[in-house]
Amino acid sequence: MTKIVNHWIGGRTAEGASGNYGPVTDPATGEVTTKVAFASVEEVDAAVAAAKEAYLSWGQSSLAARTSILFAFRALLDAHRDEIAELITAEHGKVHSDALGEVARGLEIVDLACGISVQLKGELSTQVATRVDVASIRQPLGVVAGITPFNFPAMVPMWMFPLAIACGNTFVLKPSEKDPSASVRIAELLAEAGLPDGVFNVVHGDKVAVDRLLEHPDVKAVSFVGSTPIARYIHTTASANGKRVQALGGAKNHMLVLPDADLDAAADAAVSAAYGSAGERCMAISAVVAVGAIGDTLVEKIRERAEKIQIGPGSDPASEMGPLITRAHRDKVASYVAGAADEGAEVVLDGTGYTVDGHENGHWIGISLLDKVPTSAKAYQDEIFGPVLCVLRTETYEEALDIVNASPFGNGTAIFTRDGGAARRFQLEVEAGMVGVNVPIPVPVGYHSFGGWKDSLFGDHHIYGNDGTHFYTRGKVVTTRWPDPADAPAGVDLGFPRNH
Ligand code: NAD
Repeated sequence: MTKIVNHWIGGRTAEGASGNYGPVTDPATGEVTTKVAFASVEEVDAAVAAAKEAYLSWGQSSLAARTSILFAFRALLDAHRDEIAELITAEHGKVHSDALGEVARGLEIVDLACGISVQLKGELSTQVATRVDVASIRQPLGVVAGITPFNFPAMVPMWMFPLAIACGNTFVLKPSEKDPSASVRIAELLAEAGLPDGVFNVVHGDKVAVDRLLEHPDVKAVSFVGSTPIARYIHTTASANGKRVQALGGAKNHMLVLPDADLDAAADAAVSAAYGSAGERCMAISAVVAVGAIGDTLVEKIRERAEKIQIGPGSDPASEMGPLITRAHRDKVASYVAGAADEGAEVVLDGTGYTVDGHENGHWIGISLLDKVPTSAKAYQDEIFGPVLCVLRTETYEEALDIVNASPFGNGTAIFTRDGGAARRFQLEVEAGMVGVNVPIPVPVGYHSFGGWKDSLFGDHHIYGNDGTHFYTRGKVVTTRWPDPADAPAGVDLGFPRNH
């Protein structure tokens, strides 16, 4: 029987009243296992109305009340890690250990939200003028929305809603229609933790649902994570509608390997970061820039390791890499490999045509490694979002840096070297939001914010960490004067107020 995933509105399941459903496929078998409701404008309006109603009391609730619910949610999430990871694997295809990893990284943000009281402490200056005090406080915005991608169906929503609700907002999530189940299970756990009805809502769907959130007058802010063209569209549209927006986009993450680097460590890192989650990570390394004479040795070391990767269903503990999300995406990824030689690259490993016995209809592709890729090649220029690693060669650090900085993307980047001076120079000179020094995937911990530069992020705020709290609150400054009864009356003074 086909499973049905419905919306979650006002603390309960809401069947798709519009009657529109989309298919959810198990990428390992190619079979449609689930139907997911696609929200109409009216259904999105119902979710926003529930969130607006809930905000009346949630926005006024005490920090103690909010954090006690978040602590309870944290315990439930911890206890249900495996179950959520299984839901992710069944719809996304990533291997179970990788799915568990994403739940763990989401939990970090729940940890942060449990301690929101510290972040919302505000500032007080006493006696700024005679008997005058000034307090800066931060208050919630109201109803806020999150729109999330397929590649982290649990973690990316948790980059958003724990801090949003901890700050006193209410939330409407529009998760990816490709793997919607984890978000609904999370909603159920939030309810079990005692979250009042309507504080967290989930509407599924496509552009219809997203566009309604972008224009709805009661939605005060939009957090988006997804591809660059859609991120740009979200930023432009929601901004034009007067909303606060953070829109994180796609990536092409470079890893520089300097001649003095430990090449075994660099090869291990490149293979893990390029092919983990089948390359469907916004922080995946997709371009290695080999500097100097080490290129041939490094490529050989990468090839040796990459060839050994076990590809199979994510539910099989022996698998290290699963299938791609859809057949269409698999075919697109394969087209970059097929065209690479004509574009001047050397194809060291060709993963196209790969299949897994007994799962022939799965969205499989093997490992591809392209060497001496020119910067003009589409395989280099586009975000492929699959298990394809491009190696570029340069003579010098400066040439390598120029390549990274010429990319329109600026999400993460890494340098592998034993030279502290070169690493320090790179940190300061590279145009990217997150930099790793001998760390290939420098995803910040929960209490440091995550975000890229250039076409990898539109908006002023990175996500989670202090930026997250800032994004989900607005500042208010209160200036107070309590005159002493003994003071002489101030009298009328039409001059601009001065402090004395
Ligand atoms: P996507 O942009 O196709 O979809 C993201 C969300 O936008 C989904 O909820 C989807 O339903 C919605 N959407 C899609 N098309 C739309 C349209 N025309 N109008 C309105 N809404 C639309 O992204 P995806 O394929 O789900 O995810 C992969 C992409 O996300 C990659 O580019 C990856 O780099 C990026 N990503 C970025 C980060 C980051 O932190 N920068 C993190 C994860 C993923």
